[in-house]
Amino acid sequence: MPDRTETESRKLLGRLREALAQDSAGQARLDRITALTAGSMETEVCSIYLFRDSETLELCATEGLRKDAVHQTRMRLGEGLVGRVAKTARPINSANAPQERGFRFMPETGEEIYSSFLGVPIQRLGERLGVLVVQSKDARSYSEDEVYALEVVAMVLAEMTELGAFVGEGAALSARHQNPVMFRGTVGQEGTADGHVYLHEPRVVVTNPIADDPVREAERLTAAIDQLRQSVDDMLGRNQIIDKDSRQVLETYRMFANSRSWMRRMQEDIARGLSAEAAVEKEQSSARARLRSVPDLYMRERLHDLDDLSNRLLRILTGQGGETGAEMPDRPILIARNIGPGDLLEYGRKLRGVVLEQGSVGSHAAIVARALAIPLVIHAERITAEALNGDRILVDGDQGIVHLRPEDNVANAFRDKIAMQASAQERYASIRDQPATTKCGETIKLMMNAGLMADLPSLEGSGAEGVGLFRTELQFLIRSHVPRRGELAALYGRVLDAAKGRPVIFRTLDIGSDKVLPYMKPQDDEPNPALGWRAIRVGLDKPGVMRMQLQALIRACAGRPLSLMFPFVAQFDEFREARQHALNELERERKLGHVLPSDVKIGAMLETPSLAFAPRQFFEMADFISIGGNDLKQFFFAADRENERVRRRYDTLNVSFLSMIEHIVGRCAETGTPVSFCGEDAGRPIEAMCFAAMGLRTLSMRPASIGPVKHLLRRVDLNGAKAVIDAARTTGDQSVRPAVMEWLRSQN
Ligand code: PEP
Ligand code: MG
Repeated sequence: MPDRTETESRKLLGRLREALAQDSAGQARLDRITALTAGSMETEVCSIYLFRDSETLELCATEGLRKDAVHQTRMRLGEGLVGRVAKTARPINSANAPQERGFRFMPETGEEIYSSFLGVPIQRLGERLGVLVVQSKDARSYSEDEVYALEVVAMVLAEMTELGAFVGEGAALSARHQNPVMFRGTVGQEGTADGHVYLHEPRVVVTNPIADDPVREAERLTAAIDQLRQSVDDMLGRNQIIDKDSRQVLETYRMFANSRSWMRRMQEDIARGLSAEAAVEKEQSSARARLRSVPDLYMRERLHDLDDLSNRLLRILTGQGGETGAEMPDRPILIARNIGPGDLLEYGRKLRGVVLEQGSVGSHAAIVARALAIPLVIHAERITAEALNGDRILVDGDQGIVHLRPEDNVANAFRDKIAMQASAQERYASIRDQPATTKCGETIKLMMNAGLMADLPSLEGSGAEGVGLFRTELQFLIRSHVPRRGELAALYGRVLDAAKGRPVIFRTLDIGSDKVLPYMKPQDDEPNPALGWRAIRVGLDKPGVMRMQLQALIRACAGRPLSLMFPFVAQFDEFREARQHALNELERERKLGHVLPSDVKIGAMLETPSLAFAPRQFFEMADFISIGGNDLKQFFFAADRENERVRRRYDTLNVSFLSMIEHIVGRCAETGTPVSFCGEDAGRPIEAMCFAAMGLRTLSMRPASIGPVKHLLRRVDLNGAKAVIDAARTTGDQSVRPAVMEWLRSQN
């Protein structure tokens, strides 16, 4: 038997639904809701406060307070009891409100005669929308059931807000998801894009928050949960290799899907008149609100899991699949919480830009976005909650800024920026076939980094002299199984064909650390994966895959020259051993009668400081050395390249790091070993110039950087730059950047 409060609550929701169904203006609907709620809760006052902007709440409708205060009374987030409810996303229930900490009396509302106060947040999926308040004269403390009932009303309000029920003539609210919003994120890949939102996982829209047949809704929920449980069990039971992390996530899903308290709370919401979908979303909303205040990483991840699970449940209930059938708009810009490299590759070059809420600069998705030369902004918090399919969106990958539904003046300024970039591109195009020869007559060889077939067309367009780093692991990362030798040989062959005789340096598989293959058994005992069993260490301990890859490379050359290098060499013996594997494979292929490469060069990547101090024999044995500056810098400064908190702390132009580069150049010069630099910093013009001033003559970078780097190099005198760097070093500067910038300005 439903208890009295449940029936009352259902009656109230029924009346709310009628009020909302009437063809009245937004303000009239809000007014009606306050009157109905006050009546049903037997309070003198019911008020709705909504956000005007992210920091300000406004009294938008009231029953019981002075009507002339509506749209006049405002408070800041955190101010007074209403502001506190909004800030903490928690109810405040007080029999004697004026005695409460932080109480602020609003004389214009006439609220001084009311003693009790109950305020609950109006929020949708963790997004704050406002506060719903009831007040009464008698010093009454509201029961748990009453708090709950008010929360249910707030939930319906939030849903109806989403559906635009309160927009219109004299309305309290401007339409949601129609205003311009700016997001400040982090640069993932430079470049600009002007296009339209395409959501990777479109949001489920609940159109029926109130239902009048709780029994049927409860049955729908139970059936949906059964289906969900079944699908999780199926995924877990499937006899396929699931890595440890995926298994853990699925186990957590199963735990939630079987959670009695989760189910009970949703059943209670349904009994009070919510539809099954709205009940799921209410739970999801409060989990998201909790997420904001949970410091514990493990708990946050579990709450994220619950969020994902709720989305799945909503999809089952509403029938809105991952594919909601939304057509890809013109000039699509992909918006997602996060995305894997495989999914991103599938979208491919159709996309003009990508904006993620999560992600990291070194993530595979970022690598793919770079390979596809698509501007990428990461850490654009809450963009998936704000963006709607088809919205106009501007992505400024240079600044890490995104403008959603931009105002005309922003869009115009952006257009100017794109035009300026286009003219810069024209400038770069005009020097595409010119060498990067400095004013002092030194020519710097500019190569490009690649990892996908999709990169190769850039070889022509960018003016790169070849591929200085071909990251072979991307082919392994985007597949669900180890690629076969034949597949790899064909692919490497196509890369060499596309290079049309220009050099290509293949780097053997660099996995481990952040690059975890979906089918590789994860290492349970690796507290520090970046310092762990990765790259050449895996190759030497388990040489099967490395040997297969070497065979594929040899066959791909079919008589053409082969350049290969081993990643992450930390000591001479590792290089000697890996090189021996390559020589053995050459011999094996010869015996098998395959055509051997016309020339073989075997190099090492210098990515750990230790290798800079290796014995002379190492430098003699290596045919060439390529400085992997991304890793070298992280180990040099002991600062994780993936950790946003420390990543930028140490400047590449720090005198110690530049001296390290100079030292490596010197070691290579002693033995005449060719040396290049292929980390991300090579693509930054100022850094590239300083590296050249330290003696580097080959730099490998993403294709889009070649133009800007060449443009600067052709206008500078490296002797001048070196003198400025030396002077900064002797005066004890931490970084040479200020001095170098000043010098460049003086040179125009
Ligand atoms: C580097 O470490 O600089 C490098 C080029 O390798 P990756 O970024 O692939 O680790
Ligand atoms: Mg590296």
